[in-house]
Amino acid sequence: MLSERLAAIRDRIDAAVARGGHGQRVTIVAVTKTYGPDVVRAAWEAGIGDIGENKVQEALAKQAAANVPARWHLIGHLQRNKVKALDRFSLFHALDSARLADAIHAWAEPRQQPVRALLQVNASGEASKGGFAPDAVAPEAERLMGLTGLTVCGAMTMAPFDASESQVRACFAGARAARAILRSAGHEATELSMGMSGDYELAVEEGATMVRLGTILFGARN
Ligand SMILES: *Cc1c(COP(=O)(O)O)cnc(C)c1O
Repeated sequence: MLSERLAAIRDRIDAAVARGGHGQRVTIVAVTKTYGPDVVRAAWEAGIGDIGENKVQEALAKQAAANVPARWHLIGHLQRNKVKALDRFSLFHALDSARLADAIHAWAEPRQQPVRALLQVNASGEASKGGFAPDAVAPEAERLMGLTGLTVCGAMTMAPFDASESQVRACFAGARAARAILRSAGHEATELSMGMSGDYELAVEEGATMVRLGTILFGARN
């Protein structure tokens, strides 16, 4: 039962908050990619209010079909010619380049409705991962203060694959440091989106305010 799995995960999250000592509130973003709108509805009925998708087209189709008043999160890379789709999401987790930030600003600024986004940080330094290198965060944080079409709500990261616990922790701590840099530049930056099915407890110990969970809620994807 989804509701039982959810209750067990929430208990684990509470325990991880207590161990980590950051005292944060944690939102579960249920990642429904590859699953159909029926799964979105089941999640909503189980009490999940936040749904994550990594592809725009798939997300928009599912939003229409599921027809539940959930908050939708875009958690994957966005092409610059698709920024208009951000209208349909309450938070964009993958602001991964200055050029994308400029494109979002150019579209959102005249509408006077800033896009809420998280700065994606490549805290593990893996070449295959997107996002800002840790030492690029401070200058970009300054620059983003001038882009009024964007509200920078915090940082997001993905842990390295097949890494040791200490490497994963270091990555999460790096994202937390990036959030602190965003704050000192003047952004509100309260959120820290990190942790997936395999590492969410570590992420919560390191201060995650949003965990993005797919497999552990809905089973393995094909
Ligand atoms: C698929 C995905 C997740 C969820 O992964 P699970 O391991 O299934 O929990 C989280 N974040 C992003 C960016 C994803 O693409």
